[in-house]
Amino acid sequence: MNSKDIKLIADFVAQRLEMGETEWFFKPESLFTNEFNSIGSPSHMSERKSKQKVAENAVLRGHPAIEKESCTNNDSNDSFSAAQKSLQELYSTVCGCMRCPLGQSRTKFVFGDGNPQADIMFIGEAPGADEDRQGLPFVGRAGQLLTKMIKAIELHREDVYIGNILKCRPPGNRDPKQEEIEKCEPILIRQIEIIKPKIICALGRISGQTLLRTKSSLTALRGKVHDYRGFKLMVTYHPAALLRNPKWKSAAWEDLKFLRREYDGMEL
Ligand code: SF4
Repeated sequence: MNSKDIKLIADFVAQRLEMGETEWFFKPESLFTNEFNSIGSPSHMSERKSKQKVAENAVLRGHPAIEKESCTNNDSNDSFSAAQKSLQELYSTVCGCMRCPLGQSRTKFVFGDGNPQADIMFIGEAPGADEDRQGLPFVGRAGQLLTKMIKAIELHREDVYIGNILKCRPPGNRDPKQEEIEKCEPILIRQIEIIKPKIICALGRISGQTLLRTKSSLTALRGKVHDYRGFKLMVTYHPAALLRNPKWKSAAWEDLKFLRREYDGMEL
């Protein structure tokens, strides 16, 4: 076993512990294959890697602040560029939005960030203080934990798209008001229509309840596939809640495995 193998094992164990798992199983022989570092069937991995490659060759973010590079001319890149262009056009249309009072109090408009053709979209309720300052979603401590959660299901943050229902921060991080949601949700709906994710993961009770128009508890919403305007949607804990209550991490890990199974039928 060389130092690279040891680092792979250490990363794997740290990741599982971070997610609240205390027991895990893997085949010893897999330690010495590339599959250990990227659990998944070869077909899934090659599909994902090719998608990543497209993203790397073009631009990973549907955010116009990121400089665009040229793509090779094939259908996959054409659709990637079209989705990216549509997101940029939407951003240009709505970035100065003042449709609700939050437009007056925001520091920065937080559109969303990630792969314009992501298969998985994570949606929180609204930007927090760090996001409001930087104009990007989930960049504080909760964002760092979300990045670890994404890595735990063998994806990279750049593979997915991350956004919020509201694009501007509610003062004091209060819950979104109904009139703010009504004004802002059409932007999210358009983002989803452009990205066409295989599955949406609502982060937290408020996000799940808001999108699904329900008062059901988070417990009742978790572990199920719901319908949101024709898209599959599941609900899990908000990473900020997991930071406040680390004992919920093992339940969140169950949700993430459920998400991954729904995404590609793969067991972790
Ligand atoms: S929260 Fe949404 S609707 Fe309100 S000003 Fe911001 S972008 Fe516009």
